[in-house]
Amino acid sequence: MRKDIRALNFQELSSEIVHMGFPKFRAKQIYFWVQKKCVSSFDEMTNIPDALRAALSEKFAFFDCKINTKLLSKIDGTVKYLFELYDGEYVESVVMKYKYGYSICVSSQVGCKMGCTFCASAIGGFVRQLSAGEMLSEVFAAQRDLNVKINHLVLMGTGEPLDNFENVLRFIELLTDENGQNMSIRHISLSTCGIVPKIYELADRKLGITLSVSLHAPNNQIRSKSMPVNKKYSIDELLRACRYYENTTGRRISFEYAMIKGLNDSDEAARELAGRLKGTLCHVNLIPVNNVRERNYEKSTKERQMRFKAILEESGITATVRRTLGSDINASCGQLRASKRKTGD
Ligand code: SAH
Repeated sequence: MRKDIRALNFQELSSEIVHMGFPKFRAKQIYFWVQKKCVSSFDEMTNIPDALRAALSEKFAFFDCKINTKLLSKIDGTVKYLFELYDGEYVESVVMKYKYGYSICVSSQVGCKMGCTFCASAIGGFVRQLSAGEMLSEVFAAQRDLNVKINHLVLMGTGEPLDNFENVLRFIELLTDENGQNMSIRHISLSTCGIVPKIYELADRKLGITLSVSLHAPNNQIRSKSMPVNKKYSIDELLRACRYYENTTGRRISFEYAMIKGLNDSDEAARELAGRLKGTLCHVNLIPVNNVRERNYEKSTKERQMRFKAILEESGITATVRRTLGSDINASCGQLRASKRKTGD
């Protein structure tokens, strides 16, 4: 099988080119076409000789994301894509427009192994990893379609990014390369359900990306009910890893907390959460849970959301209730792919 040219960094591309018997300066030109101009074919590389283009196309390919479905929110302009991959699998990406520019939410896997009960991405289980090149393709395809430059990235789509560790780090390396898209590392967030050893490893790489942790519960009893990963790594172990991340990188952790009516949204839960997070440099994002058709959880009421936030703030923990974007287009993880699986078309 041909290799994905988008997944190569400059050094690797250079050695491939030299190995193929072409001068090294060609690597710089090719890298520019692939990573800066985001082309999808060798024919677009107009300053590359035919012989080299032909040799390249024998060895390498572009694993593009083809737009299968595109939904545009009438409320806030959020765009959701269902992309088809080279092997007929599907992934979703969402582009949101903010005051500071465009942000893309990228998927890191086809399906997911983690099995969180509130999450549509868990439906149907895990299919396969995405390569670094495929994750780049999500960004490139959206940029091309919208004709905009995307300058923020959140790894919060389908999949558990820390369960696809090397590909995700390679993707970040390529996306932040100054000879490519040159995205600022400060504009990248990665969300994890809490794979503890990988949090330590990520901290030690000292990349400076923002870590979001999907906490969703104040104690092990509630968390283990909805997040199987909690049976492997307890909340205490997780928070210890978060403190290590914070101390090693100096970056504030962001905790995601999906508020589910009657499950994790009581005053007592808020107080317990505040007690656990005390002393951690963090921010809590309260997210009214999205009703997923296949699940029967309900959002907490507005009043509950405000009360929960107030209790956290009284204890000195900053919290925001997240604005919902794209609610008219089912813009949260996995919803579109899940409905595609269901209809089987
Ligand atoms: N696997 C990673 C990233 C993907 S999920 C993680 O777990 O963090 C992105 C975020 O959406 C996570 O915080 C996840 O818990 C949350 N999420 C999933 N389903 C949701 C739902 N129905 N309502 C609100 N948030 C949800």
